[in-house]
Amino acid sequence: MNYEPVIGLEVHVQLSTKSKIFCGCSTNFGASPNTQTCPVCLGLPGVLPVLNKQVVQCAIKTALATNCTVVEKCIFHRKNYFYPDLPKGYQISQYDMPLGENGWIQIKLDGKVKKIRITRVHMEEDAGKLIHSENSEDSRTRVDLNRAGVPLLEIVSEPDINSPEEAYNYLVSLKQILEYLEISDCNMEEGSLRCDANISIKPVGETKLGIKAELKNMNSFKGVQKALEYEIMRQKNLLIKGNKVIQETRLWNTDLNRTESMRSKEEAHDYRYFPEPDLVNVIIDKEWVNKTRRSLPEFPRARRDRLKKEYGLSDYDVEVLTMDKKTADYFEECSKQFSNFKMTANWITGDVLAVLKDKKININNFNVSPKQLGELLGLIENGTVSGKIAKDVFQDMVCTGQDAKQIVSEKGLVQLSDEGELVSIIDKVIQQNPKPVDDFRSGKQNALGFLVGQIMRETKGKANPQLVNKMLKSKLF
Ligand SMILES: [Zn+2]
Repeated sequence: MNYEPVIGLEVHVQLSTKSKIFCGCSTNFGASPNTQTCPVCLGLPGVLPVLNKQVVQCAIKTALATNCTVVEKCIFHRKNYFYPDLPKGYQISQYDMPLGENGWIQIKLDGKVKKIRITRVHMEEDAGKLIHSENSEDSRTRVDLNRAGVPLLEIVSEPDINSPEEAYNYLVSLKQILEYLEISDCNMEEGSLRCDANISIKPVGETKLGIKAELKNMNSFKGVQKALEYEIMRQKNLLIKGNKVIQETRLWNTDLNRTESMRSKEEAHDYRYFPEPDLVNVIIDKEWVNKTRRSLPEFPRARRDRLKKEYGLSDYDVEVLTMDKKTADYFEECSKQFSNFKMTANWITGDVLAVLKDKKININNFNVSPKQLGELLGLIENGTVSGKIAKDVFQDMVCTGQDAKQIVSEKGLVQLSDEGELVSIIDKVIQQNPKPVDDFRSGKQNALGFLVGQIMRETKGKANPQLVNKMLKSKLF
């Protein structure tokens, strides 16, 4: 029997607001433990939360960008559970009245477009963090509450995803949208983006859903894909052997590449949700929503279409350039300087991205500005430097942050395009290499390449190769 998986994803996004969701504490990552706390986020008695308007603004943006309906009124609930990193004993979250609902986003797989429905977008606060001692003689666990009260959005998809690849694509597309909105740094290593998955399998064509498992603890998109692949195999093997899948929460073990049971349904929490009595209803003005809609950025799909049209770029180029907003911005900024757009795209998708990958940085932290790159490309185009020398100049720019013109003049890298200077070098090379010269004259084309190579060597790579070719040919015929 053939089985197909049914997958739904829950994504938590940490918002990059300056302050927390219900108090004025800073949300900066990496501060000393417990230095960014106050009575509100410590859950001390008698304090009252006050909702951060910026969080609602981010939630409206995200709801609109994922084609959700923004409700006129939503409320917060208390989700009760006990855990050492949750000082209040409950998390303020949204339950049956979230801010956004019934949306969708598109994914593209093997050239086919598919809509994945979004159930809801809601606001909530993050919990603190437990720090387990790495010293084997110290068995204590410490609590850092800097993260307690940092704003999160939870984005829940319908179970419309039918393969691990689709899940991966969905996450990439959603992350792109969130990055374009500039509401989160989407940094998975720092936990700004987290994903849980629900997965069940059923015989192909069957409408009734199978029993699902909830997967947690995956810290990369590839990790999600791998965990789902493993889980499909595990559930299939159970069913084939006539066993049952049980409803449970499973953790992805990155070291062993497998999921492991964490708790079964019997042990599942009863969160005893009830409306948060310390916060008023959130009434969202229509005009606010409309204004937000008008301020939304151009999203990846629209931008790809425009870049293709406006700059005449290929599908591949626009796909790579729009992977993140800043790279596309970099390209457009560079194109204000230099009008050979195809060449600019080649340099960015090739040389620039290679440096970023090598240095493990993103384009925001790249020390060659679009203006500087544009200038370098201009020097190639007007013949000041050869394409080959330009690669070296570029590496120098990456190391020193200097302008191309400065490097070229200081190192004397200006391309040799003076026929008078070149003619003596060419004559010398012809004289020193009678055999290749004869070979070329008797029809061996590749002998010319050898002679050009010798001239380039004599000029330390600075001779203008087109000019050398032309002059050499006219000398030899
Ligand atoms: Zn606080």
